[in-house]
Amino acid sequence: MKKLFYLLIVLNFCFASEFDYKLKPIKLSDNSYYFYGKEEYFSNKNGGNIANTAFIVTPKSVIVLDTGSSYLYGKQVIEQIKKITNKPIKYVINTHHHPDHFLGNNAFKDATILSTEFTAEEIKTNGDLYIQNLVNLIQEPMNNTKVKNVNKFLTKKIISFDGYKLHFYYLNGHTQDDVVIFDENTKILYISDLIFNHRALATPHSNINKWIETLKKAQNIDYKICVPGHGVAFKDKKPFIENIKYLQFLNDRLEYGLKNGLDIYEILEMEVPADIKSFSMFDEEFERSIINLYNKRESIANKKLY
Ligand SMILES: [Zn+2]
Repeated sequence: MKKLFYLLIVLNFCFASEFDYKLKPIKLSDNSYYFYGKEEYFSNKNGGNIANTAFIVTPKSVIVLDTGSSYLYGKQVIEQIKKITNKPIKYVINTHHHPDHFLGNNAFKDATILSTEFTAEEIKTNGDLYIQNLVNLIQEPMNNTKVKNVNKFLTKKIISFDGYKLHFYYLNGHTQDDVVIFDENTKILYISDLIFNHRALATPHSNINKWIETLKKAQNIDYKICVPGHGVAFKDKKPFIENIKYLQFLNDRLEYGLKNGLDIYEILEMEVPADIKSFSMFDEEFERSIINLYNKRESIANKKLY
């Protein structure tokens, strides 16, 4: 009996199942899909599945937009794509340098990985550090995640992928380089992390004023569906208006705080309008934003003084 018990333990160890992201592609048009990432912070429970990933099936190949936080996530994205088409996944685009958008790259062994030169450099420089941090937060779902570097830079406005043309906008605000892709064929706009649809905005590498400017321009693109980096895809302009309002609120609160000599905690204690507070993940992201932006602005203000 004891032997059987140990055998069962050994067998259980050998066949320990890998983390299941339970991915389901959401159909946007005949050839376009996205996987919705949870509106949560990185955890062992969600395996780091916190950002959206999209893919376009073209007549000759598949283009994947962003690859999630881990090798395993990327692998499971591939498994889901294979259920829809047997065309080769030839292209992967990393919209910007945040780890929830590129750490699945190494699952895409045969694909050309594309991003801007700045994003490529950030991935190369900080990729391993991001992995270390996420291994602490997510643990085993991060197994086998390695940095897979970009091998082609995006520079052109219109790029043909085996004859399937996509329009590229090189914007900024969320990071220094945010790639936005418009598919004229389907009128789907992939806006990357420039929009968080009713999810509190992440601002660790942001320029708030530039971000507002960018959104004011990008909202004029004539899309039928817009796929954000976080939150659900949408058809109207409401998320643009809401995000501009959220960013403006961040700006105003910081300016008020600095002008009136408030410290970070006093700013965080101030009343927040209900529509802003209703964004998912508001408490954690707002605190993160205020701490980070307050320190940045204070150091700029000090530099001006001396
Ligand atoms: Zn981001």
